[in-house]
Amino acid sequence: MNFVLTLSKPDQLRIIQFYQNYQQPSPSEHIRFFAKTDLVTITMYHSGKVMFQGEDAEQEYHMWEVMFGVTTTTPQTEQKPVFNDYFYPSIGSDEVGTGDVFGPITVCAAYLPQDMVHYIQTLGIDDSKKLKDEKILEIGELIKDKIPYSLLTLHNEKYNELVRQGFNLNKMKAYMHNKAILHVLKKINGTPDVIMDQFAEENLYYRYLVQEQEVYRKITFLTKAESKYASVALASIIARYAFLKHFDILIKETGYPLVKGAGAQVDTVLARIIKEKGEGFLTSFTKCNFKNIDKATEILKND
Ligand code: MN
Repeated sequence: MNFVLTLSKPDQLRIIQFYQNYQQPSPSEHIRFFAKTDLVTITMYHSGKVMFQGEDAEQEYHMWEVMFGVTTTTPQTEQKPVFNDYFYPSIGSDEVGTGDVFGPITVCAAYLPQDMVHYIQTLGIDDSKKLKDEKILEIGELIKDKIPYSLLTLHNEKYNELVRQGFNLNKMKAYMHNKAILHVLKKINGTPDVIMDQFAEENLYYRYLVQEQEVYRKITFLTKAESKYASVALASIIARYAFLKHFDILIKETGYPLVKGAGAQVDTVLARIIKEKGEGFLTSFTKCNFKNIDKATEILKND
């Protein structure tokens, strides 16, 4: 089935820019732009009509319909309300563990309801990035049964498999954020604003989700959102809390003094593990596409 949009000049340009890496020679003089990915063919006519064909045509069409709908018919101020209060009741979404060689990726969408604002104010979470691990564990323990949230964990066994299948990190994150947001919305009444700590451009975020059945689209994307809104700080704290708990278990299970982050200390531990157990032992608790593995192999060569 074909899906057709008729677009203004600026919107035509957005389509061209978006698919320029997939551009192919125009098959006809009536066709202004022609592009083909594995799953969709895009044909733009000089009239401004754009046709989507192929397996992903419908999703691709809907993605643009939504994007152009948002930018052309809704005033910016309505789409992105200015929440002028740090404790603005809302759902925040954030992730942890993407920069850590060891340990899983955890994504959390957390809801700060109006009636919890006063309590949360007493916790001192205004700058969650600066909170030490002990403080995270302490606050995590306090809030985990008090506020509604959804937490998703991607263990490294699965992460490594997805990398092998060609998934990039942002696509994995987009899947998890979308699922966490949908889950938490099902747990609560109403539809509060959703604020996400931005890890990708908005259009890319939705692009990563084109194959998903259900995509939540009323999201405000902000960089450094965990220091702008308590709801995002709470999501970040719960995600970190879960990460730390998993990390402790991995240390016990493997018997190795695993280190957070991706620094030189990680290389040293990796080298020791590879030497004693072989590289295959890493798969279940290590992000095997990090450069640290090569550095560790280098260390062993020079041993
Ligand atoms: Mn973040």
